Amino acid sequence: MSKILIIEDEESIAELEKDYLELSGFTVEIENNGEEGLTRALEEKFDLLILDLMLPGVDGFEICKRVRKVKNTPILMVSAKKEDIDKIRGLGLGADDYITKPFSPSELVARVKAHLARYERLIGSGVQENEIIEIRGLKIDKTARRVYVNGEEKTFTTKEFDLLTFLAQNPNHVYTKDELFSKIWDMESMGDIATVTVHIKKIREKIEFNTSKPQYIETIWGVGYRFKM
Ligand code: CA
Repeated sequence: MSKILIIEDEESIAELEKDYLELSGFTVEIENNGEEGLTRALEEKFDLLILDLMLPGVDGFEICKRVRKVKNTPILMVSAKKEDIDKIRGLGLGADDYITKPFSPSELVARVKAHLARYERLIGSGVQENEIIEIRGLKIDKTARRVYVNGEEKTFTTKEFDLLTFLAQNPNHVYTKDELFSKIWDMESMGDIATVTVHIKKIREKIEFNTSKPQYIETIWGVGYRFKM
């Protein structure tokens, strides 16, 4: 059964959408706040997102942009203003569809079904998309274990790749060298936390434009490292 997340601050609209979608057999959850909606969209697995544009906290533009960086989940954007829809199209944020309020519930359900069907065909076609992390010109293809910086492929050793991927998957979180060492290297392996420093240095040489002013992996003096989102 397909699971849908509605991010919408007008509770009556969200409830109406939910009722109709549930009648069509979908599992539906609602978030009324942009920030919490974004967190759930990123951390949990939904088959489709219905995203209102104007939201408290983080708005629909930002949510769409952030989710698209890491997920292919179909996104249906909802707005009260026709002009906003034109703006979304212009921005090319990666939304799959747009709908203007007020809309008929049956139209919403029809569009949701169409997008889910298209997405399932894509997934089921065997042409599974690679799992990719993309942040400001840095592209990590987890499936193929390849790294590109502004479109140019860089060669990574296994541990360099694992370390970079781990940090990039957990952005804005400070890790100590000890934590990184125990996560990336198995405990029996030779080496110590200095290994982490050496690997970070090598990774920076490959991904940073200026290694003395890193834009991706930040050093938190006396603590460890943090991947900047
Ligand atoms: Ca709103």
